[in-house]
Amino acid sequence: MEKQIKQTRISLELGDITKCRVDAIVNAANPSLMGGAGVDGAIHKAGGPAILKECKRIVAHIGRLTPGHAVITNGGRLPARHVIHTVGPVWHGGVQREELILSSAYRESLVLADKMALKTIAFPSISTGAYGYPLDQAAEIAMRTVKEYIAGDSFLEQIIFILFSQEILEAYQKKL
Ligand code: ADP
Repeated sequence: MEKQIKQTRISLELGDITKCRVDAIVNAANPSLMGGAGVDGAIHKAGGPAILKECKRIVAHIGRLTPGHAVITNGGRLPARHVIHTVGPVWHGGVQREELILSSAYRESLVLADKMALKTIAFPSISTGAYGYPLDQAAEIAMRTVKEYIAGDSFLEQIIFILFSQEILEAYQKKL
């Protein structure tokens, strides 16, 4: 499923983001940037130690990554050239600014990609695994934030959501 807004195409696919050949894949990281479970673990495992090495350098500079922000590293052995690491919110019932933080995680990743003059970026479904964000609400925020962003001044050509199950794919299709 696809949608074009101005010069950017949004597409939704079922799959494994570590296999994605784009300028950058986005990692749903945790603030330590030291790897973890879920998509984070899969990215570090497939990409190898070069990614973690750069994450350590970043943490030595800026400390832990605040939820809603994003940083970029190399892609190691991944087919993707770069990894953009962002931290989504942990779901606390919606009373701790989760919506703002999730929206910011997507937007800051897109801003960073544009700053680096990247053309293609792939996202997973941020915060809907271990962080427990309700899927339909997360999909709504993801789609709204991306559409609003590319309605502005972006040079991105393609934004792909690589979704890990049929259920997640369908939730995003409803909101696209
Ligand atoms: P968070 O801590 O932000 O919730 P998780 O990694 O636990 O992050 O889950 C985020 C989403 O990533 C979930 O929908 C999960 O199914 C999905 N996921 C896990 N592994 C992969 C992968 N290799 N490619 C794409 N998505 C993945």
